[in-house]
Amino acid sequence: MKTKTKGRRMFIGGEWVERDHVIDIYDPQDHSFITTVPKATVEDALFTVEMAKKGAETAAAIPVHERMAILERAAHYVSTHQKRFAETIAREGSKTIREATSEVDRCVQTLRISQEEARRIHGETIPFDQMPGHEDRVGYYYRFPIGIIAAITPFNDPLNLVAHKIGPAIAAGNAIIIKPSSLTPLSALLLAEAFVEAGLPKHVLSVITGSGKDVGETLVKHPAVRMVSFTGGLKTGEHIARQAGLKKIGMELGSNCPTIVLEDADIDEAAAACVSGAFSAAGQNCIGVQRIFIQKTVYDQFEAEIVKKARTVKLGDKQLESTDMGPLINETEARRVEALVNEAVEKGATLLTGGVREGAFYAPTVLSNVPDHCQIADEEIFGPVVLLYQVIDLHEAIEKANNVDYGLQAGIFTNRIDDAMTAARCLHVGGVMINDSSDYRIDGMPFGGVKGSGLGREGIRFAIQDMTEPKVVQFNLKKDRNRL
Ligand code: NAD
Repeated sequence: MKTKTKGRRMFIGGEWVERDHVIDIYDPQDHSFITTVPKATVEDALFTVEMAKKGAETAAAIPVHERMAILERAAHYVSTHQKRFAETIAREGSKTIREATSEVDRCVQTLRISQEEARRIHGETIPFDQMPGHEDRVGYYYRFPIGIIAAITPFNDPLNLVAHKIGPAIAAGNAIIIKPSSLTPLSALLLAEAFVEAGLPKHVLSVITGSGKDVGETLVKHPAVRMVSFTGGLKTGEHIARQAGLKKIGMELGSNCPTIVLEDADIDEAAAACVSGAFSAAGQNCIGVQRIFIQKTVYDQFEAEIVKKARTVKLGDKQLESTDMGPLINETEARRVEALVNEAVEKGATLLTGGVREGAFYAPTVLSNVPDHCQIADEEIFGPVVLLYQVIDLHEAIEKANNVDYGLQAGIFTNRIDDAMTAARCLHVGGVMINDSSDYRIDGMPFGGVKGSGLGREGIRFAIQDMTEPKVVQFNLKKDRNRL
C-alpha cells in the first residue's frame, strides 16, 4: 500500500500552494518515488501572470543596492545549504553527488555574478549634435527592466540553469516566472526558498510546476509576458518561437558539439578532456563532446587512449562520492540512446566500447566509422556516446564540424597558433575552446549558439542586455543657450 505523503508545494506570487492534482517525481536510478509537486492548470498559469504584473512593478522599484543585497543573501543561503541542494539535484536528476555539488557551487557563482552585474547596468550619453540643426540637444539612454519574463528550463542542470534566469532577471529589476522541467522541479523550488529567505518581495518570483503544454504554452502566449527565456531542445524551442507572438525570445538549445584533435596535440590530455566532456552528466549536456575529428597521423593513438579512459569511467550509485557517472534521466531516454547506437552499428559503425544498457544506465560508448546517413551522425545524442572521425587535416575537420544544423561550442587541441586561430574564425559556433573540449564554460562568459543551437546569449551580463530595454532621454536646451 502506498502511503499518501505530503508533496512539495509550488511557489506562486509569494505563496507556497498545493493542488489535488500532482506530478510524481522519481529517482532515475531505481525509479523510486521521491515526492510529488502540484500539477498546475492553465488557470494557475494565468493567475501567476496576474501576480507577476504586481511583481514587475515591485521589482522595478527595488533600488540596485537592495537587489544586490537580495542576490548576495540568496547566494549565501545556497552556499550554506550546499549539501541539501546537492542531494536534491543528485536525487531527482542524473548527476552524481560530485557533479551535483559542483553545480551548487556554480549556482552560488551565478548569483554572485548577478549581484555584481546589477551595479553595471548603465546607458551612455548620446551626441545629438552629430545631426545638423541639433547642436543644442543633450541626452542619454538608460536601460529599464522589460517587465515579466517567463523562463522555461530543462532537466539536465536543474539548479544552475534556473539561477541563470532568476539572477539576471532580479539584477535587472524584472518579475520572473520559472516553469521547471517536470522531471526535476525540486531544485528550482529549493532555489525559490533561498530567495524567500533572502527577502525578495512577494510577487517578483514564481516557480510554477506543470506540463509544458498547459503551463508552458499559456505563459509563452500571454501578451503580458515580455520575454520568454527558454533552455531546452530544438523542437520545443521552435514550437515556442512559433507560439510566442510579439515578445523577446532567448533560446538556449541543444547541439552535437565537435572537438578537433590535431597531430601536434598532447594526446593524453586531449583524450582525458574528451572523456570528461562526453560522459559527464551521463552525456546529457548541451556542450558535451559528441563528434571528435582526429588527424589521421595520431588517430590510432587517440582511439586507443580514449577507449582505455572511457572504460575506467565508473557507473553506479549517484549518491556515492566514488561514482563517476549516473543513469540517464529515465529508462525511456536510455532506450532512445540505445536505439540510436544500434541503428549506427547496423549501418556499419564500429562499437569500440560500451553499447550496453541496464535500466536507465547506459555505458560510456565510443563509436567509429559512423556512416553519414545515421541519425546519430547529425542529431543531438544527449547521452554518453561519442563518435570518432579520422580527418586528413584541419580544413577537413572544420568542414565536417560545420556540416550540421547545430552550432553551440567547439574545442580544438593544437599547439599551433595559426591552426587555433583558423579554427576560431571558421567554426560556426558560439564559442571555440582552444586546448579544451567543447565542454568548457564559466558562468560569466557569453554563452549560446548559432543555427539550431539558439538565439541570444546567457552569461548574466548578456542576459541582462536581453532583459532590459534602452530608453532615450533628450533635453532641448535652446532656451538655456539664449540666456548666456
Ligand atoms: P525539452 O525541450 O524537452 O523541455 C524543456 C522544457 O520545456 C521543460 O520544462 C518542458 O516542460 C518545457 N516544454 C515542453 N513542451 C513545451 C511547450 N509546448 N511549451 C512550453 N514549454 C514546453 O528539453 P529537456 O529534454 O528537458 O532538455 C534537454 C535539451 O535541453 C537538450 O536538447 C539540451 O541540449 C538542451 N539544453 C540546452 C542548454 C543550453 O544552454 N544551450 C542547456 C541545457 C540543456
